[in-house]
Formats: sequence, C-alpha cells, structure tokens
Amino acid sequence: MQNSDDKLRKVISHSKEYGFVFPSSEIYDGLSAAYDYGQLGAELKNNIKQYWWSFMTRLHQNIVGIDASIFMHPTTWKASGHVDAFNDPLIDNKDSKRRYRADVLIEDYVKKIEAKVEKEVEKARARFGESFDEVMFRSTHPNVIRNQEKIDGINARFKKSLEAEDLADVKALIEELEIADPETGSRNWTDVRQFNLMFKTELGAVSGDAGIIYLRPETAQGIFVNFLNVQKSGRMKIPFGIAQIGKAFRNEIIARQFIFRMREFEQMEMQFFVKPGTELEWYSYWKEARMKWHKALGMGEDNYRFHDHLKLAHYANAACDIEFNFPMGFKELEGIHSRTDFDLSNHEKYSGKKIRYYDTESEESYVPYVVETSIGLDRMFLAVLSNAYNEEKLEDGTERTVLHIHPALAPVKVAVLPLLKKDGLPEKAKEIVDLLKFDFNLQYDDKDAIGRRYRRQDAIGTPYCITIDHETLNDHSVTIRERDSMKQERINISTLHTILSQKVSMTQLFS
Ligand code: ATP
Repeated sequence: MQNSDDKLRKVISHSKEYGFVFPSSEIYDGLSAAYDYGQLGAELKNNIKQYWWSFMTRLHQNIVGIDASIFMHPTTWKASGHVDAFNDPLIDNKDSKRRYRADVLIEDYVKKIEAKVEKEVEKARARFGESFDEVMFRSTHPNVIRNQEKIDGINARFKKSLEAEDLADVKALIEELEIADPETGSRNWTDVRQFNLMFKTELGAVSGDAGIIYLRPETAQGIFVNFLNVQKSGRMKIPFGIAQIGKAFRNEIIARQFIFRMREFEQMEMQFFVKPGTELEWYSYWKEARMKWHKALGMGEDNYRFHDHLKLAHYANAACDIEFNFPMGFKELEGIHSRTDFDLSNHEKYSGKKIRYYDTESEESYVPYVVETSIGLDRMFLAVLSNAYNEEKLEDGTERTVLHIHPALAPVKVAVLPLLKKDGLPEKAKEIVDLLKFDFNLQYDDKDAIGRRYRRQDAIGTPYCITIDHETLNDHSVTIRERDSMKQERINISTLHTILSQKVSMTQLFS
C-alpha cells in the first residue's frame, strides 16, 4: 500500500474515527503512551482474549486459568529478581535531548545489516531460480560472509558486555559503530545507565520503605505464588499449566508506536510446569503450538518469524520471540521462555515455604521447571488491526476502506439492514434482530443508501450484512453479503442462525 509510517498513521486515525482506540484523557490533551479502548476496541479485545483463553484452557485439558491480584507482597519482586535486575540500559542524546534504549539502538543497527544480507540472498534466488543452493550461497558469497561476520561480532561483543554489566563498553560499541540518533543524526551521547522499570506506590497508611509496593511488571508471578494452591486444590498432575490474562505495568524508557509499547498494558501468560530435564522438549512443543495459534488467523504465513534471544533474561535457559510484521517492520509479539526452576526456587528461598511437587509414579519430590508463553494483548490487537486494514479500489471505480478481520474475532458479527425505512421493512428487520441478538453482536442500521451502509460495516470489519427487502415479506428470504468477496446470496430466514453460527464460530480456528 503506502510506506509503513503512513500505514501506522492511517490505522491510528481509523481506530479513533470508528471507536477502536482513543488517546487516554484526550480532553486534557492526552497522557503520553496511554490509550483507551472504545466500543469496538473493547469487543475486539474480548474476542482476542477468548481465542487465547479457549485455546489454552479448553484445548489443553491440563491447563487451568486464574485471575491474581495486581498488588503482591513486595518480597515477590525481590525473589523474582525484578528489584535488582529488571532494568533497561538507557542512553540520552545530548543534542536532541532524546532518550533511547542502548540495546535497541544496537539491535536496530544489526537488523539493517541483516536486511542487506537477505536482499543479497533474494537477488541470487531470483537469478538462479530452481537451482539456487541457499546454504552454499551464504557460505561462499564474499559480501554475505563479510556482513555475517560483522553481525556475529557485534552480537558477541554486546552479549559479553551486558553479561559483565560493562555499560561503558556498551557506549563504546555505539560509538565505534557510529550509531546516530535515528531522529536527528547526532552522535553526541551520554553514558549508558541502568533504569528500573517497576512502578512504585504506597500501600494504605504505612509510609516509608515498609509500605512500598509495586505494580506488577508481569502477570507470571501471580501464577508462581499460587502454584501450590492450584496444584493441590485442582489435583493437578505434572505436566500442567496455569494461564492468566491481566494488566501489567512498566515504566518504559520510551513508549511509542501507538499501543505497541505502553506503560500500562495487558498480558496473556501461561506457565507450564514440567519435570526437570524435559523442559527443552516442552519449549519446542510450545514454540510450535503458539505459532500454529497465530497462523490459524490467516494473517499471512510470511508475516511471522522466530527470533532467538541472544541475551537471556536473568531467569531463562532458552528463549525466543514470535515476531510479527507490524507496519513498523518485524517486532516482538510474543515471548516463549524456558524459565527453569528459577522462580519457584527463589519463592521457596524467600518465603521459607516448601514449593515442591510429589511425583507419585517416580516417588520423588522436586521443584518443577517452567516453560512460559507470554503475549501482549495490546500488541496482538495492533497486529490484527494493522493486518486487517486495507484501502481497495473496486471494479466500479469507487474505493472502500475495509478491515479484513477474521470473522471469529470481528467486533460486530452481522449488520441487519432494511432496504427502505418504510413498507414494514424495519419491522421485519427488527424480528431478525430479535432472532440473532442473543448469540451475535450485531448492529441495526436504516440510515442512508444501502451502499453507504455496506461501506460503514466494511470499515469496522463486520463480516456479514443482511438486507431485508420487499421480497422478504413474501418469501422469508434475505440477502446475505460477505465482506471480503462482497458476494451476495439469497437465503431463507430459517437458516440464518445456523449459517452465521458456522461462519463466525471460533471452533473453525481450532480445527
Ligand atoms: P520488549 O523487548 O518489546 O520490551 P519484552 O521482551 O520486555 O518486550 P516480555 O517481558 O517478554 O517483553 O513480555 C511479554 C510480552 O508482553 C511481549 O511479547 C509483548 O507482547 C508484551 N509487552 C511487553 N512490554 C510491553 C509494553 N510496554 N507494551 C505493550 N506490550 C508489552
């Protein structure tokens, strides 16, 4: 379509115009990086949640869901490592006064070289056609080899300096690579500093350090501290999982790009508890399972890729991201982490309570290992919306803006449209509304010409429109119009409910 900034801008303004996402407290000029979900946004968000929750807890009989509180005992965050290690390296540009994450500046630099390599490979593929041997090409072509060596060199150096907490060397690397402020081109950088991302607040009337609590920076810890509660009360047998959807808070250094990075956001996380030694098998299992969940939505096979983590978080022994092709390019949508027994062992240590699982078969007792899947609900929302947004030229020369959202996720499933606002057509249409309203989120619309009403429904992604005309009064048939193909079909009212149920059902995503 258009360039990527353009597309993101259009998605943002479309979201606002049609009631998906509004800037927070807009009458006071908004609050940076905070957004509100409007009437259609809330519906879409709920449908995404339902798709995730059903996949986790219905398709997997050994996964149950909980809803833990946002406030937790402050020692939780000592045990989890967040008080000491939940930091991002930040760097300021002295000229532009802009603040950046040092790791992001370096990663973006590496991505540019990677793009050069891929371009070279694609060029060769086009040239050699069927006979193209990619492995051979990558290992022999001088430009590709040189660039790959450069990438590996930067990655190794960066990893080493982060592990040694050598922030001076991170800055030195930025200077050696001549990385400039992406906005202004200035290379006048401050030193790199660590910045803790947790929000603090005070509990009740207790003042001073004793009363300090944190807004949770991830939902996972609410699951860990409830491990025994759920395992015992639910008589769960390993391997099993606990899923949760809820808000998380991070005082991000830079929060930009619409709802991609906010300071208050929502996560859908699942912790899967396994026998030590089996965690990497389960890690592979969940990588595949989560990718399938994404691809079932039909948002384009090529729009996803795995990205293995170079710098493992303080708790992980293997980790990757599922990246999605957002309007800003490929970015993290979901993380899959093998978290070892780090969290449960530390909670054991800090709480002084035994957190063990007794395996009746092997008659041993152990601290389970954990594989986590963690996806940002807001990022998923942006993925769905930006992928769905399209401006199309139609055969008759007119244009439409349409959201090709999967019918199972679409906020409004069906629009009921009497052709005219007279002759008993509105009354007949309202009968159809009554027939469908309990099972489908629908809109009734009798204003303007039918073509304009179709356009309005296209713009909010309604997959089906039902039109009631004079024939309907005689033979109980209606026209059903499909959003993507714009094809119209005549069907009997008696079959309407069954047909719609099949078309917008979430079950089809799971088959
Ligand atoms: P990033 O590298 O983009 O900061 P992360 O690796 O810190 O993300 P995780 O801690 O793995 O993120 O969190 C799991 C998921 O939560 C991410 O994949 C992302 O979808 C979502 N998420 C994390 N931070 C934010 C944020 N500030 N705003 C919106 N979603 C977020």
